[in-house]
Amino acid sequence: MTCIKIPKDHPRAESLRIREKLIEHFNEGVVASAGLIAHGRGEAFDYLLGEKTTAPALNAIEAAAAMLLTAKHPVISINGNTAALTAKEIVKLAEVVNAKIEVNLFYRTPERELAIKKLLEKAGANEVLGVGKNASARIQELGSERRHVDPRGILIADVVLVPLEDGDRTEALVKMGKKVIAVDLNPLSRTAQNATITIVDNVVRAMPKLVETTEKLKARGLEKCHEILRNFDNKRNLAESINLIKNRLLEAAEKGELLTVEAGKL
Ligand code: ATP
Ligand code: MG
Repeated sequence: MTCIKIPKDHPRAESLRIREKLIEHFNEGVVASAGLIAHGRGEAFDYLLGEKTTAPALNAIEAAAAMLLTAKHPVISINGNTAALTAKEIVKLAEVVNAKIEVNLFYRTPERELAIKKLLEKAGANEVLGVGKNASARIQELGSERRHVDPRGILIADVVLVPLEDGDRTEALVKMGKKVIAVDLNPLSRTAQNATITIVDNVVRAMPKLVETTEKLKARGLEKCHEILRNFDNKRNLAESINLIKNRLLEAAEKGELLTVEAGKL
């Protein structure tokens, strides 16, 4: 149930709608209270980026699509915020690249795991890994609840898509020899810095775009995917996102004005 009515012409309508969605799913036990705060930190970076999918993000999305299509055992790792905001796209992407979907939570409770599983099943998922006793394997490098993984999923994955991730776990997965694709609005976070491919964008925009790009790329064949991956440099791509923020801030500082979407011309 939505708590407030958002006027269509409100300048922050989309951002408010996303907040309402998260609150709704918080009330249903899908999103953790800390997830609401994490979203706020993300919003601040989205504001600086101009609240749109930038050119570097589009390049990272293409590389991510190529990496998922060339993977042997791709897994999409899901937390409460991702499920609340993009359940439909997660299911679609898993279908297109033949990936497993696994629930992996920092604030792990049996109730939350089940609530997320149900939400994904409602969106069309046939199988959701990592719930309850199924998360019987351990990532040794990690102390938090996120160390529990499913032996059929993340444990044997070669590529893990972590739409919203924590820095410690990204590092641990990379140490285990996995390729990690992260979606993170903060290009400076440990997640962004340690992932193999970082999509600096809001999951709400990035996930539908990733589904669309993956479908198109699939039709172009594996050789095209390998070529895209050969030409992609994550550090360079991150630097482009950081530069974009820097230039928008410089422009705003010169004008002494609020940042607008137009200020972030590509
Ligand atoms: P790290 O652990 O990687 O160093 P952190 O500790 O600063 O990062 P966390 O609390 O682990 O951050 O996660 C919050 C981060 O998740 C935010 O800084 C933001 O970049 C990212 N985030 C939150 N909501 C979204 C969203 N809707 N889309 C993309 N990224 C998001
Ligand atoms: Mg963190």
